[in-house]
Amino acid sequence: MARTHILGFPRIGARRELKFAQEAFWRGETPEAALRETGTTLRRRHWQLQADAGLATVAAGDFAWYDQMLGLTALLGALPKRFGFDAASLTLAQYYELARGNAAQPAMEMTKWFDTNYHYLVPELDADSTFDGGPTWFLDEVDEALALGLATRPVLIGPVTYLYLSKSHVPGFDRLTLLPKVVQAYRRILAQLRERGIEWVQIDEPVLCLDIDAEWLDAIDRAYVDLVDLVDLADAGPKVLLATYFDTAAPHAARAAALPVHGFHVDLVRAPEQLETWLQVLPANAVLSAGVIDGRNIWRADLRAVLATLAPLHAQLGDRLWIAPSCSLLHVPVSLDAEQRLDPELKSWLAFATEKLEELRTLAVALNQGKAAAATQLAASDAARESRRTSRRVVNQRVQGRLAAVTADMADRASAFDIRIERQREALQLPALPTTTIGSFPQTTAIRQTRAAYKRGEIGALDYLQRIRGEIELAVRKQEALGIDVLVHGEAERNDMVEYFGEQLCGYAFTENGWVQSYGSRCVKPPVIYGDVYRPEPMTVDTARYAQSLTDKPMKGMLTGPVTMLQWSFVRDDQPRATTARQLALAIRDEVRDLEAAGIRIIQIDEPALREGLPLRRDDWTAYLEWAVNAFRLSAAGVSDQTQIHTHMCYAEFNDILPAIAAMDADVITIETSRSAMELLEGFGEFDYPNEIGPGVYDIHSPRVPTVEAITRLLERACEVIPPERLWVNPDCGLKTRGWPETEAALANMITATRQLRGKLASQPPVTWKRVTQPAPGSARSAAAAHAHGTACDPNCAGQLSI
Ligand code: GLN
Ligand code: ZN
Repeated sequence: MARTHILGFPRIGARRELKFAQEAFWRGETPEAALRETGTTLRRRHWQLQADAGLATVAAGDFAWYDQMLGLTALLGALPKRFGFDAASLTLAQYYELARGNAAQPAMEMTKWFDTNYHYLVPELDADSTFDGGPTWFLDEVDEALALGLATRPVLIGPVTYLYLSKSHVPGFDRLTLLPKVVQAYRRILAQLRERGIEWVQIDEPVLCLDIDAEWLDAIDRAYVDLVDLVDLADAGPKVLLATYFDTAAPHAARAAALPVHGFHVDLVRAPEQLETWLQVLPANAVLSAGVIDGRNIWRADLRAVLATLAPLHAQLGDRLWIAPSCSLLHVPVSLDAEQRLDPELKSWLAFATEKLEELRTLAVALNQGKAAAATQLAASDAARESRRTSRRVVNQRVQGRLAAVTADMADRASAFDIRIERQREALQLPALPTTTIGSFPQTTAIRQTRAAYKRGEIGALDYLQRIRGEIELAVRKQEALGIDVLVHGEAERNDMVEYFGEQLCGYAFTENGWVQSYGSRCVKPPVIYGDVYRPEPMTVDTARYAQSLTDKPMKGMLTGPVTMLQWSFVRDDQPRATTARQLALAIRDEVRDLEAAGIRIIQIDEPALREGLPLRRDDWTAYLEWAVNAFRLSAAGVSDQTQIHTHMCYAEFNDILPAIAAMDADVITIETSRSAMELLEGFGEFDYPNEIGPGVYDIHSPRVPTVEAITRLLERACEVIPPERLWVNPDCGLKTRGWPETEAALANMITATRQLRGKLASQPPVTWKRVTQPAPGSARSAAAAHAHGTACDPNCAGQLSI
């Protein structure tokens, strides 16, 4: 009998119960007991769903009060010393201080979980780190499930992944020296599970899907040999299911197969081709858990196709075949039940976490009892697939035709940057070090109430328009008073930079409750791209035209780029992401051209999510960057030389994709840099980024007003690495989370610092910056320069794109 299981379930609750309970606790409105009660209720409900769907085991230990990595840090007892907490007696309140900071200590760092939009708290380790155990929460949850009489399979992130994802403030510290201690802690935990009669434990090592070097691979060998031998698991259990996900683990399959573990989970949605390799190396008694239901997307599976994959596996492996989603269901919303307003046809194509459990049940029934036993469910799956394949909602011949007619030169501006920038300077007449902002201004309560009232139908369209125009005028007046050179309208009409455009594009749908945890209590509700995307009518032109009519200064048009639109949505799985990106690019291209025709001379196309889309394995980077950069260029290149295209990126490591960023060929890029004291900018300088740059001169996350001196220091540093004639001055990112008083004070200081520096630059001989004028042939520098000038460069360089 093939059995079914899951790697984890969303913890937040169908109605975001955990979020609201957490936040009430943080505000001091409810006692810890109330929060704990919510946690217990959610776990119980989610286990019941799993049991009801006939899963062989329920997953325990996937719950987290904030984050699973923080939970593991607590379980191991490896708390950052700077907080001074005693791990064994850690309270929930202290746990939240680790996650959110307190008066004395900043929060633990947070970063993205692999290539998902989930963020985990980064363990902070050094030579003195201890792993003597922490609170008993993990085991309590296992006991909770056992007490309910449920067959329970606990879940742990593995020791090597834990260390790999951690960081140390001590330069040069080798985290792997901690491996023996960490393994010792896992050994203790496994022994505790054995005492409870647990048969299987799932240990996640998704690092096996990354390009890890020999040292880390050796660590896998050492960890598991020690772990399993020491606990003598072979006889007494628990058996270990080693789980990998998010990409192929095939390159390490042979090595993994030699470990003394008892089964392997592999992601056959992201990397179906790895199956063959795993079948070749799978030890005779080992379990293979086939991740065949997409844990990262919301589409209903084509169950008949999945069965075609599973049937021969079942014939070969029998009981040793387990069926599962590709990864934890953490990355999809909880249940379609909460969607009342979704179009019924579209809804019939979807499966959220709860519906995915049902898909697993159908697969198990069909495999174990024959397809006839699951005939109704299979027929429903077929019908959904057929309806999706042929629906007029999905396929739009005009979009397809347009896409087919796209030519390579459509992604090229008319002239090279050197020529364009001269024309733009002439047209725009901006001062040296032009000042601007990233787009949004404070989203005040009044603005949010206006939008909400309009959505609820309490105010009419005209009233809404007038109020939004009032906000735009306010923003324009304030910017003029401050003396900013390039203005923005402030984005009062947008609550979200993807949703705002998605709502106006065909091919996009929005859920009511399709929430996915982003971090802690924060959830996002990604829109769904279900069909060919097109723009039925202009989206921002009226707003931009109105804003421009209020001022003689240039008003930036403000758009979200195709890659970010794609990255922050649930996307179609029936065509390559690259194709969807091109459709989005064409829609945005139309908007860019319409803005230009309406007299907007500067247009910013934000791409903060460009880097997020990078595949986990470096081998796949070039292909991704090629289509992503091409989509951006396609969206931007339809304008004349005089029209200045900006882009904006933030909060990511960009230094390793600088050639691609240069290849986007935006006239100006504004980037977030102030938090790293311009470290990022140094990368741009070293690489000799060819176009203009606006490094963020202050952090927008804090209400603290940066001093003129602090901004001056950053600007002077910037002048050392970027020629001042190519520098812009702006904050790190949009200002929508800030209030007006601090925003005005900060921008006033930014303007003062800029004016002082302009004076200094005017009185100084030019060229104070260090620049290598003759880059060595074949260097990244020369590749970018070659690209910017339209000549060929190294074919391995992401800067050379077949556009
Ligand atoms: N234009 C957007 C804003 O200012 C950019 C936001 C972002 O980079 N995430 O809000
Ligand atoms: Zn930003």
